Amino acid sequence: MRKKIVAGNWKMNNNKQETAELIESLKLLSFSTDVRVMIAPAHTHLVQAEKLTQGATIEVLAQNMNAAESGAYTGEISARMLQSININKVILGHSERRAYYNETDSVLKKKVETALRHDMEVVFCFGEELEERKKECHFEVVRTQLETALFGLKPSRWSKIILAYEPVWAIGTGETASPEQAQEMHAFIRGLISLKYDQNLADSVPILYGGSVKPANASAIFSQPDVDGGLIGGSALNVEDFASIIQSV
Ligand code: PEP
Repeated sequence: MRKKIVAGNWKMNNNKQETAELIESLKLLSFSTDVRVMIAPAHTHLVQAEKLTQGATIEVLAQNMNAAESGAYTGEISARMLQSININKVILGHSERRAYYNETDSVLKKKVETALRHDMEVVFCFGEELEERKKECHFEVVRTQLETALFGLKPSRWSKIILAYEPVWAIGTGETASPEQAQEMHAFIRGLISLKYDQNLADSVPILYGGSVKPANASAIFSQPDVDGGLIGGSALNVEDFASIIQSV
């Protein structure tokens, strides 16, 4: 049985004080133990977030990391740096990283390999753009993204992978995939994994949906059989909205 997951991607929002306040508010809520709750604050606040969430059932993840172990990569951070502050989870492949920082699937393949070599858990984001959906090649786009970045992994590595299907046209736009569109794609993804590996592995991989999830649409999306929770952007910055989304899973 796959555990449900709701992860908040805070992106480049919240200063130190605001980060602390949001975490303290989240800590006051009680969540079902059936759901893993995660937050991804900015890198500058990870140390603080890790400290403030000790003893709470809130997991902290980084929003990005470099594929290299160390070296002359000004402005970047490594797996080893994250692990030295007890951060063992990272989001990779977010559409904003792909769009603004040229992160291709080949780059992401290296990042995933580095994270897994360090035994880190990876929330791997992927999804088609609006034009690709309009041209009805969204399944092919998703297939290529997964094949390039992930399908070279040994089956045992998949225990550390959480997939996040995020159609780019739904991120931060207020436009959401319908529950049926999300289910259709998630079932397709599970089918791809089953073909490449086997049904057991396909059934064990959590697949989150991301793209304008709000309290009003969360239950309908999360009730789909192949949707195991959500990666939440804007709504994760508001404690009531995030709590309501977590309760919908
Ligand atoms: C995201 O950035 O991963 C995301 C899903 O954002 P939003 O919920 O704001 O669409």
